[in-house]
Amino acid sequence: MSGKRIDREKLTIRKMMALYQRRCPDALPDEAHYQALNAYADKRLDKCVFGEEKPACKQCPVHCYQPAKREEMKQIMRWSGPRMLWRHPILTIRHLIDDRRPVPELPEKVKPKK
Ligand code: SF4
Repeated sequence: MSGKRIDREKLTIRKMMALYQRRCPDALPDEAHYQALNAYADKRLDKCVFGEEKPACKQCPVHCYQPAKREEMKQIMRWSGPRMLWRHPILTIRHLIDDRRPVPELPEKVKPKK
């Protein structure tokens, strides 16, 4: 899946990861690990059940990330988030606006059966 929102989120994640990797190069095992995590995040976004209406991942009721990868991404976001505003102000403001979106109802295809 691709669309403005998903593309913007992929770009934001890429910038946050690049910033983190530049300043904390040894925080994750190696370059290949960063690349694999970025590819994983892109894939999650491509398959997001909410598509362009997605909420912020941190508020998502689905949590499609594997727990270990979710922890790594949280670590990156926590460090890079406050530093993004100075380097990528427009992207950061768009991200903050996206973060305030209400969580949409789960699509029928992923609703638990009664
Ligand atoms: S955590 Fe939720 S919002 Fe984020 S990509 Fe996965 S399903 Fe979509």
